[in-house]
Amino acid sequence: MDQYDLIAIGAGSGGLSVVERAASYGARCAVIESGRLGGTCVNVGCVPKKVMWFAAHHAHALAEAAGYGFDVELRGHDWGALKRARDGYVHGINDWYAGYLERTGVTLLRGHARCVDAHTVEVDGRRLGAPHIAIATGGRAQVPAVAGAELGITSDGFFELEALPRRVAVVGAGYIAVELAGMLRALGARTSLLLRKDEPLREFDALIRESLLAALRADGIEVLTRTRPTRLERLPDGSLRVERSDGAALEVDCLLWAVGRAPNTAGLDLAAAGVHVAPDGTMPVDDYQNTNVPGVYALGDVTGRAALTPVAIAAGRRLADRLFGGQPERHLDYANIATVVFSHPPIGTVGLTEAQARAAHGDAVQVFTTRFTPMLRAFSAHPRETAMKLVCLGPQRRVIGVHAIGDGVDEMLQGFAVAVRMGATKRDFDDTVAIHPTSAEELVTMR
Ligand code: FAD
Ligand code: NDP
Repeated sequence: MDQYDLIAIGAGSGGLSVVERAASYGARCAVIESGRLGGTCVNVGCVPKKVMWFAAHHAHALAEAAGYGFDVELRGHDWGALKRARDGYVHGINDWYAGYLERTGVTLLRGHARCVDAHTVEVDGRRLGAPHIAIATGGRAQVPAVAGAELGITSDGFFELEALPRRVAVVGAGYIAVELAGMLRALGARTSLLLRKDEPLREFDALIRESLLAALRADGIEVLTRTRPTRLERLPDGSLRVERSDGAALEVDCLLWAVGRAPNTAGLDLAAAGVHVAPDGTMPVDDYQNTNVPGVYALGDVTGRAALTPVAIAAGRRLADRLFGGQPERHLDYANIATVVFSHPPIGTVGLTEAQARAAHGDAVQVFTTRFTPMLRAFSAHPRETAMKLVCLGPQRRVIGVHAIGDGVDEMLQGFAVAVRMGATKRDFDDTVAIHPTSAEELVTMR
């Protein structure tokens, strides 16, 4: 049996980062992957998604061009060419990772891993052992138990589409539903977004939800509330008939389920290692990514906490720092993690929403809000509002939440996340001289 210092199961954002950092400390590492190197983010998540968002962004920019004096005639969009370029880009990252693992001396094993005991893993009949095992198996898209559900696709299927579907129904209310509906619409699909409740992104600040809903509708997305598919049926002409809980029906070319993701724990034989799994399949961990079994850790989406690539990476690197880098207290602080939703316009948020802050701190909370038409849209036939909110706490007015929706906020938020983490006050924001003319300056000039 091959013996290592650390074995990671899953070569996605979390698994790759823990072995990479551990190897830099001289640890002998192996990583096991049943699919493609890079995991969800590289293959069917952030990376190809952002390529599609850039494409959609160009479509929006083309719509603005006339306002800036351009006489542009749009003769179409070649989805197939974009897909080929995108796939090539992703394959380039896959290859880069393979070379990188080789250069850093990490052993890559291809196949499905399962636990034999707390210190032994089996991959296709081959056994390997280590005192430290990090489980980073991520998650997969869920599909509800609805008649004909398999006729729909998930985000994985979105990345396989060879052509733009003419009419699409997107079902769900989270990041993926909002992002993919926006891209499909911008690239020309007649798009319906089916929400089982009243609004998308219900965890987000009210200002963001309200502005997003207006932007989705202004872009021509049909937002259908309080409804969900109850039955899907393929019609003789190839289209899909979607029966809805409110008694109405839709005819589309494609239905995309975006109703959440489930952790990949089922095939791991975690019971053989004595590791607890929560009823929803996620792996509970403490602040140090420890499971209930010493020497077995979990990180990334499989833990069910903040399912974001940089979170999986940060948790993996900190775990390696702790185990092999002589930093026994090193762990990830899950507070104040900034996040962007790549909608049109994008959303950026860090810290507490106003509702969360008021629930926790009552009247000690003070809020500053602004809404404006950004200069970029001054000549637009389709003006889009930017909205921003600062949530502040106590007499010092410490900024505990920054929420923004508008052009450019995706690139704006990272720096503000540093300020929030450092405990910046409204006074610090006010005393920071603005950069003019930008939208970002509104965040330091609110009254
Ligand atoms: P993953 O990246 O999913 O990696 C897990 C790996 O484990 C997979 O490669 C899988 O094949 C492998 N595996 C599973 N079981 C086994 C087994 N038994 N044996 C061997 N290998 C196994 N996050 C962002 O921060 N920004 C974004 O813009 C963003 N966009 C997204 C868009 C979409 C459409 C999706 C679906 C997700 C997006 N995410 C985004 C989330 C992000 O992709 C995940 O949070 C991140 O990939 C989680 O990393 P991970 O290492 O936990 O899991
Ligand atoms: P989410 O968990 O974010 O959202 C899914 C939503 O769909 C639920 O919150 C729920 O909202 C709704 N829903 C659930 N079940 C049903 C159902 N049966 N019918 C209709 N609606 C339903 O999942 P996603 O799949 O969108 O994304 C998973 C995670 O991946 C995200 O939470 C995020 O962490 C990460 N991600 C990050 C991105 C980024 O950083 N830009 C982009 C994409 C994903 P409600 O209760 O309101 O109906």
